[in-house]
Amino acid sequence: MFPVESTSVETSRIARAIRVLQRHPKVAATISRVGVFDCKITAGTTLNSAHAFGDAGDAMNAGPAAERERIARTVIRDATHRTRRNRLRRTEVVFVIWNDRQWVRDHGESPYTGVAHTNHVHIGCSFSTHLVPACKGGRNYDVRYANGQRG
Ligand SMILES: [Zn+2]
Repeated sequence: MFPVESTSVETSRIARAIRVLQRHPKVAATISRVGVFDCKITAGTTLNSAHAFGDAGDAMNAGPAAERERIARTVIRDATHRTRRNRLRRTEVVFVIWNDRQWVRDHGESPYTGVAHTNHVHIGCSFSTHLVPACKGGRNYDVRYANGQRG
């Protein structure tokens, strides 16, 4: 089973989404690890990454594109269906990036115009935002209100 690495904060909703992903043994076997917290901006933008809020996970896979595709499809299904793996609930994932594709809750799938994700699948419970995370001195933010922006 892949390890989950988080050096700081981790929201309960991303932790749950990752636990549910671990309940897909064949897909989980293609993931070397999942990295959560990273106090960074989203590449190519000035937005704070959802990782800086502990609200996203990167499922590492540098294999064939089809493996990342399968990981992404699994995560999207768990986000859109009430599954037994998640006690008949949907996960709170809203944003998935893999290869050159993205899926956004309520908007569906489209090409991803940012840096191609060829060595991991991004799994976000919120989007990149101008809000300032605690790791950069931010206060009184709530990532649940950060969904209007993404990067
Ligand atoms: Zn990511």
